[in-house]
Amino acid sequence: MLAINEAARTMAALAKDVLDEPDDRAFSATTQGLEANPASAEPYPLGLRVVGFRPPTHEDLAFAVDADFARTRHELESLVRIPSVSDPDFDAVELGHSAQAVAGLLRSSGVSQVRLLEIEGAHPAVYGEIEGPQGAPTVLLYAHHDVQPPGPAEEWESSPFEPVERGGRLYGRGVADNKAGVVLHAAAIRAFDGAVPVNVKLFIEGEEAVGSTHLGAFIDRYGELLAADVVVIADSVNWKPGVPSITTTLRGLVDCIVEVTTLDTAVHSGQYGGTVPDAITVLARMIASLHDNDGGVAVAGLVSGDADDLGLTEEEFRSEIGVVDGIELMGSDSLTSRMWRRPSISVLALDAPAISHAVNQIVPTARAKVSMRIAPGQDPEGAMAALVAHLEAAVPWETQVTITPGASERAFEVDTDGPATQMFAEALSVAYGGDVVEVGVGGSIPIVSAFQHAHPTARIIINGVADSTSNAHAPNESVSLQDFNSGVLAEAIALRLLAEEASNQRPASSTDTATLGRSVKRMDEPQSQRTPLQHEPPGG
Ligand SMILES: [Zn+2]
Repeated sequence: MLAINEAARTMAALAKDVLDEPDDRAFSATTQGLEANPASAEPYPLGLRVVGFRPPTHEDLAFAVDADFARTRHELESLVRIPSVSDPDFDAVELGHSAQAVAGLLRSSGVSQVRLLEIEGAHPAVYGEIEGPQGAPTVLLYAHHDVQPPGPAEEWESSPFEPVERGGRLYGRGVADNKAGVVLHAAAIRAFDGAVPVNVKLFIEGEEAVGSTHLGAFIDRYGELLAADVVVIADSVNWKPGVPSITTTLRGLVDCIVEVTTLDTAVHSGQYGGTVPDAITVLARMIASLHDNDGGVAVAGLVSGDADDLGLTEEEFRSEIGVVDGIELMGSDSLTSRMWRRPSISVLALDAPAISHAVNQIVPTARAKVSMRIAPGQDPEGAMAALVAHLEAAVPWETQVTITPGASERAFEVDTDGPATQMFAEALSVAYGGDVVEVGVGGSIPIVSAFQHAHPTARIIINGVADSTSNAHAPNESVSLQDFNSGVLAEAIALRLLAEEASNQRPASSTDTATLGRSVKRMDEPQSQRTPLQHEPPGG
């Protein structure tokens, strides 16, 4: 927590310094920062190769983002009107439509090499790139254009695929998860009006909402194309509306299927009941052993950690997720620790006779799918072994049990001191005008482990403009328009800072040191002098 906030404050102070530059650094807004100001003696911090070229300031970017925001919002609304539900029960044709719409959006935003990436049986992903200045870092921008099913129509206050604004938020399926992410990337690129200071690649996936089924195949086929120094995944959430956040941890996942057999075939429960155990009872005893009496995970030997509680109260939490009155919550310590840095176990499904088919017999076989979220720092292999060992030790009455390991996803923990994280923290702090909060995510994001595996040196940034009230997988999904606007600006500023950081790391030249020198000078500036970037809120 502290690492990011302190750095962000320092850097935000720096940003203020940039904004406080005397007027001779300013330039005509209509040129959007692309025209040199001959009167300025200031060296060009980006060290761009084109002499007489000056990169846009944070303020220029804010102006550009605001001036473009009506279009940005319109693009989001247009994408939301395409019901690109990737669930197999929905019409896959719409995924083709949304991929084409995204491709068009990228092309019209100045992205080149735009094309659909296809894998047999997968919904299409969209790729594009922008060549930046020579020697600049390569940043891969990720989002997904598919959405969750809308769920019960009667629970929506307005039609899911007809975006509507209410109270400063735009409502519709996919408006937050994750079409805002798609449009955000395009709008951030446009803020540079053709002079993006880094190399950009875009990868807009088409089946994230169904678990990124073919992601491995995409990475196998297109891995080289997707290689990057920094990967920005705009598919996470802000802690609260208006509170800029970076996701620094993700839990991993292992699961297994437990199959119990007690008889060759079902027998009469009146005749033999009390002698042979039924398979459901055996399974229930094994499952019950997975938690202690307080609801903590009882499997031994698992990694477990603590997270800042971020002021989240149990009351708030209960009403946010709709816990049925009177139910005690499981586990102990802060809720954020429990959700982000502790293992958790859920039983996802049971194969056993349906009640409608129940007869008076001793059920001979039953199966359960047991899923365990694993904490950052935990290796999936060790976690799976611990889970299996625990279940085996819990088998009652020498029953015959088969445990088949299934999914295995690594947990993720970002290096919060890493320069890319610091750049994003600064950018978010400036764009939103507030301290950046480090959050965890209890689930995993398949693309993160895929990129980690394919490009282990890439620095991964996870953020997003959804928030705790966005109802991302539920009816009445929404996004804050103000946060959407701030998110676009934050990404634009971050790209600028990444370029600047990279240029400062290049071999010293007379044009490369200005910003670095200034940051050292301003380190001791009191926090209270931090001035967030003021820019117009998005129009109604
Ligand atoms: Zn998503």
